[in-house]
Amino acid sequence: MDHIDWANLPFGYQKTNYNVRSYYREGEWGKIEVSDSEFVSIHMAATGLHYGQQAFEGLKAYMGKDGKVRLFRWDENAKRMQDSANGIMMAVPPMELFKEAVLKAVRMNAEFIPPHGTGAALYIRPLLFGSGPRVGVKPADEFLFMVFVTPVGAYFKEGFNPVSIMVSRDYDRAAPKGTGRYKVGGNYAASLTIGEIAHKEGYASVLFLDAREKKYIDEAGPANFFAIKGNTYITPLSESILPSITNKSLMVLAEDMGMKVERRKVALEELSEFDEVGACGTAAVISPIRRIADPEMGTEWNYCLDGKAGAKSTQLYQRLLDIQYGDAEDKFGWTTVVDF
Ligand SMILES: *Cc1c(COP(=O)(O)O)cnc(C)c1O
Repeated sequence: MDHIDWANLPFGYQKTNYNVRSYYREGEWGKIEVSDSEFVSIHMAATGLHYGQQAFEGLKAYMGKDGKVRLFRWDENAKRMQDSANGIMMAVPPMELFKEAVLKAVRMNAEFIPPHGTGAALYIRPLLFGSGPRVGVKPADEFLFMVFVTPVGAYFKEGFNPVSIMVSRDYDRAAPKGTGRYKVGGNYAASLTIGEIAHKEGYASVLFLDAREKKYIDEAGPANFFAIKGNTYITPLSESILPSITNKSLMVLAEDMGMKVERRKVALEELSEFDEVGACGTAAVISPIRRIADPEMGTEWNYCLDGKAGAKSTQLYQRLLDIQYGDAEDKFGWTTVVDF
């Protein structure tokens, strides 16, 4: 694809050649179908349209310097989609179906995999929704699982430059016993209003607090939150946050670098004790945070006073990217090479 400006790709949708689909009907998953249409024909009473029976995943395929294409921990995404499906009463796509669909979508769009060294990657978006009709509130009996891909650049336009975020006090994305730990669209719907308010005020994202007490940090918009204090990596333990695979991997890398890892409740006041803070997720890997503002309380915390990301965050970011792009040894067995 010569007409794509790989180095300046936004994190957005771009049409590719094919997507893949499998329907769950009469208690069985059908074979994987390939489509060249960007559209799906769905029943107007589908539960995915009315009752939020919908979940998605996000992972990437990376082009290595060695010309090999790697998927990063696809099995973790498959398991998480299974958890989401179970969480909101949807048919559960088997691991093999997930893997075959992802591999097929990547293989059939090989020309859209960004070249090594551009900082871009092929974003893979599996999704699952209730396609069967219901008018009364009840789970569907038919589901559609599909996978599309699109080449993307960094999520935050700042790239690895530190961003500013804002504490949300008037909006929660998830309730303590709600669906926050599932990757479902409803959580995102709940986050849109405050997200737009934050963007208008010049913030890159929102910091959500626990909905019950507004005392502890939950997560940073579509990304998990972490902090570095001395030689310790700290990340919130909460039943209403999405278990990020990036965060899980960073915890392993931090330990491997000789750091201590703490997964526990993190009170908002602790922000004044941290040396570095950041948001993490597949889209941006790590977004270092330079400022957290809590306008309603008239408080703010500042980091990266020299304008640059902290040393530990930078090291973690580089180590994870090196594994994803195949530049460093994959000693934890996280990558899967896609054969063509
Ligand atoms: C997807 C997602 C993340 C990041 O998870 P990764 O597996 O690291 O991509 C974090 N928070 C929310 C709410 C998410 O939906």
